[in-house]
Amino acid sequence: SKWVYSFGAGRNEGSAQMRNLLGGKGANLAEMASIGLPVPPGFTITTEVCTAYYENGRQYPAELREQVAEALARVETAVGLKFGDHQKPLLVSVRSGARVSMPGMMDTVLNLGLNDQTVDGLANASGDARFAWDSYRRFIQMFGSVVLDVDHHRFEEIIEHVKLDRGVLEDTELTAQDWHRVVAGYKDMVEEVTGEPFPQDPEAQLWGAIGAVFGSWMNQRANTYRRLHDIPESWGTAVNVQAMVFGNMGSDCATGVCFTRDPSTGENIFYGEYLINAQGEDVVAGIRTPQPMSEARAKPGERSMEAAMPAAYAELVQVRATLEKHYHDMQDIEFTVQQNKLYMLQTRNGKRTAAASLKIAVDMAREGLIDEKEAVQRVNPAALDQLLHPTLDPSAKRSAIAKGLPASPGAACGVIVFSADEAEARAQKGEAVILVRIETSPEDIHGMHAAKGILTTRGGMTSHAAVVARGMGRPCVAGAGSITVDYASQALMAGGRTLRGGETITLDGATGEVFAGTVAMIEPKLSGDFATLMEWADKVRRLKVRANAETPVDADTARKFGAEGIGLCRTEHMFFDPERIGAVRQMIMAETEQGRRAALARLLPFQRADFLDLFRIMAGLPVTIRLLDPPLHEFLPHAEHELAEVAETLGADVEAMKRRAAELSEANPMLGHRGCRLGVTFPEIYEMQARAIFEAAVAIGKETHKAPVPEIMIPLVAMTRELEITRAMVDKVAQQVFAESGYHVTYQVGTMIELPRAALIADRIAEAADFFSFGTNDLTQTVFGLSRDDAGKFLPTYVEKGILPKDPFVSIDIDGVGALVRIAAEKGRGVKPDLKLGICGEHGGDPASIHFCESVGLDYVSCSPYRVPVARLAAAQAAL
Ligand code: PEP
Ligand code: MG
Repeated sequence: SKWVYSFGAGRNEGSAQMRNLLGGKGANLAEMASIGLPVPPGFTITTEVCTAYYENGRQYPAELREQVAEALARVETAVGLKFGDHQKPLLVSVRSGARVSMPGMMDTVLNLGLNDQTVDGLANASGDARFAWDSYRRFIQMFGSVVLDVDHHRFEEIIEHVKLDRGVLEDTELTAQDWHRVVAGYKDMVEEVTGEPFPQDPEAQLWGAIGAVFGSWMNQRANTYRRLHDIPESWGTAVNVQAMVFGNMGSDCATGVCFTRDPSTGENIFYGEYLINAQGEDVVAGIRTPQPMSEARAKPGERSMEAAMPAAYAELVQVRATLEKHYHDMQDIEFTVQQNKLYMLQTRNGKRTAAASLKIAVDMAREGLIDEKEAVQRVNPAALDQLLHPTLDPSAKRSAIAKGLPASPGAACGVIVFSADEAEARAQKGEAVILVRIETSPEDIHGMHAAKGILTTRGGMTSHAAVVARGMGRPCVAGAGSITVDYASQALMAGGRTLRGGETITLDGATGEVFAGTVAMIEPKLSGDFATLMEWADKVRRLKVRANAETPVDADTARKFGAEGIGLCRTEHMFFDPERIGAVRQMIMAETEQGRRAALARLLPFQRADFLDLFRIMAGLPVTIRLLDPPLHEFLPHAEHELAEVAETLGADVEAMKRRAAELSEANPMLGHRGCRLGVTFPEIYEMQARAIFEAAVAIGKETHKAPVPEIMIPLVAMTRELEITRAMVDKVAQQVFAESGYHVTYQVGTMIELPRAALIADRIAEAADFFSFGTNDLTQTVFGLSRDDAGKFLPTYVEKGILPKDPFVSIDIDGVGALVRIAAEKGRGVKPDLKLGICGEHGGDPASIHFCESVGLDYVSCSPYRVPVARLAAAQAAL
């Protein structure tokens, strides 16, 4: 079989399509050569050799040596030099190259083929002894560190010693004679460290380097990298052997690394760095300061390649255009100029920031390099998140004191406060605050709103803090378990430090990191390109995108980001306003229905006003309102003064209030008296909410002659009867309101599917439902038997150990939770083919989960307002 593929000098056996076999580097070298770009000739030893090598107890396939020798002979003929020849030696580079680039693997050995004899040949042929000896010492250094595993400090020590001895500061001041001394020192040192002389036989050098590349596929760093990036071991790496060209042979030589567009802004300019008279590693090593490519980008004192080497630069500009036209994407290239002649050493699709990826995709579509659909595919939806929030300045110094879950993206910086009230008070004075809590509860909402960011030490990705922060667009780090919070002393302890209230911290909600002090940030700028890409995405997507929102601010934000309605209005979030909480508590503490009704009558006007706002903002769009869901004890008064207040309104005493509070408290509230169970046992609550909804809808209908179509949603249904009973209540209130007002509006009543039983009997539930909305937060919790509020403590370990591929509260567990969604969708539609299906769990804003929703044929996804653009783009990609 064929193990070796040639490229360059008119024989290109590979192509860009053969990345799996030849690795990214090898495939693209062959591709560049075949489209006529100047590539020094060479060959690629395939990834299959790597696989075979490991399958056969580290033995190469039998034909390999012969094929390598043939390919090498071809290179010799092409360049008119001979490997190991004392007069005209061929030197080669040896580089690793997997399918995807993998830092952590052996990378490059240059100048291979030099020894005590060929170095003289190189000196004669180039007429430059200094260059030859410098090349030789570079080779020993690279080969020594990457192949023989000699610590690179040992090499630097020797150079430093020679420089000290000669009284010079810079490498450039060393002469041929000095490099000669360095080489002698290197060889002695290598022999001392490895117990063997530095290999002089070029053949042995070549096979040593090839062996090191294949060996590096299994080194610890590469293994770790593969595990972190899901790269299978079976892929293997290729080895590229290529004739050397020299950028360090004089002032008409250079080497450089550049991008065909600016990788941080996306701007359509030639971007990069080069160095005259240098070899590849000098550009990255930081010993000399690389210079800019284009004159337009040159600062005073800099010498651009455009100015210094106009001919080679002009050729490179041509190459740039050719590459973009050929690859239809921004390229990251490496080149060398040897005696004014340009050579291409690498090309690959360039890494870029979120902002650049957006601009490049839109620009390239406008330039006709790609079409709109391709542009939509090009931008990673998760990257959009970065564009909508401030981010930490990548160049800012920082060191994290703790790491929690990346619960809501964006960076935030402010002074530490430990209570919602203090957050609000200090924010009102114009201070930026970070609210730090062990966990948050609905009572903290005002403080969360006032804060720039939220940090909790307990709770997972669907904990209260995480869900609410995402909804508000506040950066949040949740479940940072290594931080200890002590409310009493107003301090937090992390990483051996104590920070007190009033001291500054910075959060990165995209990584979960927490920093002491201030870290510089970059504000987001939404470009016109953003709107353009969204438009293109909207053209191709099938899934509708709604938002989870309950306040006018959130609803406005959602509209601004293109939400097509509200998919989940959590009415309990409307109950915590200080003006209302008193009435809510009065209702809960009331021991009789009559007492509850009195309190509910106080709440009715508030609720009605809320719904009026939402209907107005969402004019003409669907609004799904979920009736009260959480266990009542979440609203209980805790502080003495709160208890006293409620006691007074109810005409009871504080002791009685405490007793009632104890009665209402539950051992396992997530599985307790919540959801429709509240509606079944206290019908008056749902009746009040239904009345508020219908009265608001009627008012809008009368005012605008275009009544909204409310979608009323019953939570936590497990039995059909629960839905039938609550639905009957809603229908009854509707008829009453329509009769009283003489105005009729259409409405729907549906249910959340968020318990396994509901999913399994979805055909029966569908009989009583106009729509289903999958509550995948509770469904995940109940399918896994995994508490939403406690999972943050141990789930990261599960992900680290590979027990779970991802946090299932972030990205839907397709095998388990997804299977139930599929069953419920099929059963539901089996009974009612037009049954409207949506999802409103946190997964509704997660790109991978959105792909799943598309595959199940849901009608819409609903997510927090700030994730609406992400969802629009992900939905488009899922449809393509
Ligand atoms: C859910 O359970 O997925 C859901 C959307 O409801 P909540 O998060 O309010 O329980
Ligand atoms: Mg739920």
